[in-house]
Amino acid sequence: MSTFALPKYTGAYMKVLKFGGTSVGTAESLTYVKHIVESGEDRMVVVVSALGGLTDKLLATAALASSGDQRYKDNMLSIAERHRGIITAIIAPEFQDEVSSTVEPMLEELGKLYDGVALIGELPDQTLDRIVSFGERMSSVIVSRMIPGATHFNSLDIIKTEKWFNKNIADTVLTDRNIKETLGLCKSKVAVIGGFISTDRDSGEITNLGRGGSDYTAALVAAALDADCLEIWTDVDGFMTADPRIIPQAQVIDRLSFVESMELCSFGAKVVYPPTIYPVFHKNIPIRILNTFRSTAPGTWITDKAANLGEAKGVTSVRKISIIEIEGKSAENVPEINSRTFNSLAKSGISVKLVSQPTADSSFSFAVSTSDSQRSAKALEQEFAPDMETGEISRIQATDGMAIIAIVGENIGHESGTGPRILNSLQRAGISVATSSHGASAMSHAYVVAETDADNALRIIHETFFEKS
Ligand code: ADP
Ligand code: ASP
Ligand code: MG
Repeated sequence: MSTFALPKYTGAYMKVLKFGGTSVGTAESLTYVKHIVESGEDRMVVVVSALGGLTDKLLATAALASSGDQRYKDNMLSIAERHRGIITAIIAPEFQDEVSSTVEPMLEELGKLYDGVALIGELPDQTLDRIVSFGERMSSVIVSRMIPGATHFNSLDIIKTEKWFNKNIADTVLTDRNIKETLGLCKSKVAVIGGFISTDRDSGEITNLGRGGSDYTAALVAAALDADCLEIWTDVDGFMTADPRIIPQAQVIDRLSFVESMELCSFGAKVVYPPTIYPVFHKNIPIRILNTFRSTAPGTWITDKAANLGEAKGVTSVRKISIIEIEGKSAENVPEINSRTFNSLAKSGISVKLVSQPTADSSFSFAVSTSDSQRSAKALEQEFAPDMETGEISRIQATDGMAIIAIVGENIGHESGTGPRILNSLQRAGISVATSSHGASAMSHAYVVAETDADNALRIIHETFFEKS
């Protein structure tokens, strides 16, 4: 058992609490949220997601409308009824009219947007972003009115994005300033803001930070306000050794370092949205992962210090992966092929998930998301066209249907026994490894296997490292 001194604080304590869709799904779950917020003594900013499952429903309804399927109208009705039902159930009667006077016009605008989409039969990205924004716009108003004395802030005025290739990414400098000038000056004990949603800094169009992005909003707020702690409240007891939906034996990890959690999240641990860690890591603000429905459970602390260096902390998977392989004599020159490959992919805005262990043979491979696989192959065919002409590169090939399995822990890469232990267990289970990488940062061992083997590989590795026999 490691001894761990909880981060100390002096003077006034200020924290940011983020409640995910799983915590704000129903009137009952909202009563847990209310209790957690009201029993806190500190100043706090509460960041909320849309009602559980609502973002998916908003997207699905948009798809129905754009394909002319009239069932979009039933969906719209049930979205409206769900919000009305929650308002009636959790808002004090004297405030219900006031909340409805904000939420009803939003529901009306949403309905009109769907009608417009159905009429034109088209769904531009900007309209879709506008549609999904209603989830957090409505939930944040409802939650703020549920907590007496709380002040609501509009994330569309505060969180700003800029275009990067075809993506919207946070403009962290502008957002930081906006947060300080709004939430930072809030006089109430509790401020509430919707997560995930934002606006483009140039056009003012509604955008968002990507699916699961409320965690990131909360981290940006915590960093801008130099919060003492960022609490991510969800529906599990903490960060676990594996996804509990796949591995029921997964256990809560009591401590992680920022870098360990960053590695786990970027290799698919869905409990926290990957970009979340960086802003708080940079400011050394501890993160806690806590269970809304069991608020007494200790949860997971994520701080700057790793516990038990060299020990495996968790195993994760990323699905829908493709391997891109470059074959030929040029591939033997690892530094050159690396830099040409990564430059050409970066120019196309493609991020590489894993780079294979360099070997002396004449092939070089790396993994990308399957959604980027065709674009990656094209970018490389362009880059290496001269080498293909001379025969120095004989083939560039993409293989879809793969998954990455990663086992993470600070300094794990320095433990010489870990790699063979993993490979042996996978081999015994008849799982073949297409390629692997023992993180340059010594933070992980990652293996690419067929996607159909992914669950089995997770089970075997979890058993080997985390389940006592
Ligand atoms: P929220 O709505 O609170 O944002 P999410 O669904 O985004 O919740 O994240 C919580 C879920 O993440 C959990 O219910 C769990 O099933 C899943 N999960 C995946 N990997 C892990 C992990 N390593 N530890 C804990 N939860 C995980
Ligand atoms: N509501 C958004 C989603 O479902 C953002 C979030 O929940 O973090 O992706
Ligand atoms: Mg989430």
